[in-house]
Amino acid sequence: MDFDRIREKLNILADAAKYDVSCASSGSDRTNKAKGLGNASKMGICHSYTEDGRCISLLKILLTNHCIYDCAYCVTRKSNDIKRAAFKIQEVVDLTINFYRRNYIEGLFLSSGIFKNADYTMERLVAVAKKLREEENFNGYIHLKSIPGASDELMYEAGLYADRLSVNIEVPTISGLKLLAPDKKHEDFTKPMLKVKNEIVRFQTERKIIKSTPKYAPAGQSTQMIVGASGETDKDIMYSATYYYKTYQMRRVYYSGYVPVADDVRLPAIGSQVPMLRENRLYQTDWLLRFYGFAVNEILNKEHPNLDMDVDPKLSWALRNLHHFPVDVNMADKRLLARIPGIGMQSVEKIMKARKFRRLNWDHLKKIGVALNRAQYFMVCDSRHWERRDLDAEKIKGMILQTSSGKFRNLYGNQLSLFN
Ligand code: SF4
Repeated sequence: MDFDRIREKLNILADAAKYDVSCASSGSDRTNKAKGLGNASKMGICHSYTEDGRCISLLKILLTNHCIYDCAYCVTRKSNDIKRAAFKIQEVVDLTINFYRRNYIEGLFLSSGIFKNADYTMERLVAVAKKLREEENFNGYIHLKSIPGASDELMYEAGLYADRLSVNIEVPTISGLKLLAPDKKHEDFTKPMLKVKNEIVRFQTERKIIKSTPKYAPAGQSTQMIVGASGETDKDIMYSATYYYKTYQMRRVYYSGYVPVADDVRLPAIGSQVPMLRENRLYQTDWLLRFYGFAVNEILNKEHPNLDMDVDPKLSWALRNLHHFPVDVNMADKRLLARIPGIGMQSVEKIMKARKFRRLNWDHLKKIGVALNRAQYFMVCDSRHWERRDLDAEKIKGMILQTSSGKFRNLYGNQLSLFN
């Protein structure tokens, strides 16, 4: 084996894979210093979370960064003048097994540019997973990227070997896709998604009857959207995410702030990176929709097409809907409790249990873990005063921001001073 060439390929293809966030964290460039332990530099190792909540490290690489397409937002697009490389199938298998044996990784995240066509590329991704499972008896985690436009037969096979499959929708709107990735059609993404969804349902149903039915993509499917490349609003993004969750039973939608990599009039200028805070707010909204019973139009609508950057989306919604408050924590149902800013789902469960035995007051709620600096303006409990009194939304927001210790608070120093 030519180790120098493999190392060079690893550098190129791990670096190209870092723009994909759909397996969580990656992109660290911390190097090993003077006999320190570990090295996170360009080794292509990232972390992900399994279904049972374990954090695992994955070898995260592209099979190739050659591509026949020219998507404007992508560093791998064919018109970009960059160093290209491609792994052979056996090289990826060997790297995965060697890294696994050395305890560097617990699994593989494999994506790819498109070689000749979708099926030719997908066939190679599937071949890697198949070899790992059948020849190497590898039982670690495998996340395969599905290539847009890949055939149903290959998607079927992919799910037999991979734990998770994902097709990155990338541009949240159809008009944005036409503008930035004119070679791709919307159906190129949705067809493989639909196939994977149908197979997951079919296998699950069969397993209920025949216990020996193999698992098909047991960690489900996910997708990623690039945020801020095509001028879409947060409303466009979250409506689109909701559609994918509902229609294709996505396990996760990931939001990745666009990193300007090209000088192109269709794209934001180089240097105008999407603030991390916008990604953060989108993830918070995603959480509210999936676990807190919010409907997307309650948070984002014609009047409010973008999320409030000062405060989290639940607080923002509460400030616009003061008529729903105060909520009595000793009486309210689960759905209403979950709408109080500063009360998470774990606290909701604890409140439901605790109030069977006694009426709760501020001290009890503090011990339960309720963030009273926010919650106090929106609820009443077994204490005499109600903190909101006659405050309006602006005043409440100002008072909360003053007592907030969030990591983004400094960004809003100027705005906070308005409330002093
Ligand atoms: S098809 Fe994928 S890899 Fe190729 S240019 Fe488009 S986004 Fe990049």
